[in-house]
Amino acid sequence: REFEDFFLKRELLMGIFEKGFEKPSPIQEEAIPVILQNRNVLARAKNGTGKTAAYIIPCLEKTDTTKDFIQVLILIPTRELALQTSAIVKEMGKHMGIQCMVTTGGTSLKDDIMRLYNSVHIIVATPGRILDLGSKKVADLSKVKTIIMDEADKLLSPEFQPVLEEIIGQCHEDHQICLFSATFPVTVKGFCKKFVPNPYSINL
Ligand code: AMP
Repeated sequence: REFEDFFLKRELLMGIFEKGFEKPSPIQEEAIPVILQNRNVLARAKNGTGKTAAYIIPCLEKTDTTKDFIQVLILIPTRELALQTSAIVKEMGKHMGIQCMVTTGGTSLKDDIMRLYNSVHIIVATPGRILDLGSKKVADLSKVKTIIMDEADKLLSPEFQPVLEEIIGQCHEDHQICLFSATFPVTVKGFCKKFVPNPYSINL
């Protein structure tokens, strides 16, 4: 398979090739078309497989940059990983005019509120801060139809689980959840049963 086989926007293909990617990795081959079909996905994948681009590429393809609202929410357990992930979104999406915002705990809430006055298409966030912004009606998640949960085994710790449920409740009713995790402990399985119906499973 080639990246061209996914019929991606030319501006996105340019971003992919400029990253030096030549061919999709196995998880990208499998995940990109299913995420583009708006399906729920449960992917068991370790770091190093190319899992980050496996969800970023279809998220970018689905984003309509002529619209001014938040369309994709990428949930990440730690600030450091959120920064890395948003950097890749920005790099790959730069020819598309993507506006990506990263928001995490431990930074100025006021700066985030200011940033949200301007156009944002994709948000990369840790759970506490985005719930705060959503509940204060500063971030409008009601048109988010694509929710990514990366490192879900860390995201879905018992204290975070209710936070995630609330965040999902603020998103569009007709949404897809794509969940990536190295392991599927009972906490993750229980969550998936309730919130990720009829998923396409990827095991690599
Ligand atoms: P990840 O598993 O998402 O942490 O990615 C691991 C590393 O593989 C990162 O440095 C990526 O930039 C790189 N990578 C991901 N997909 C590809 C690809 N299709 N071709 C070449 N490198 C890739």
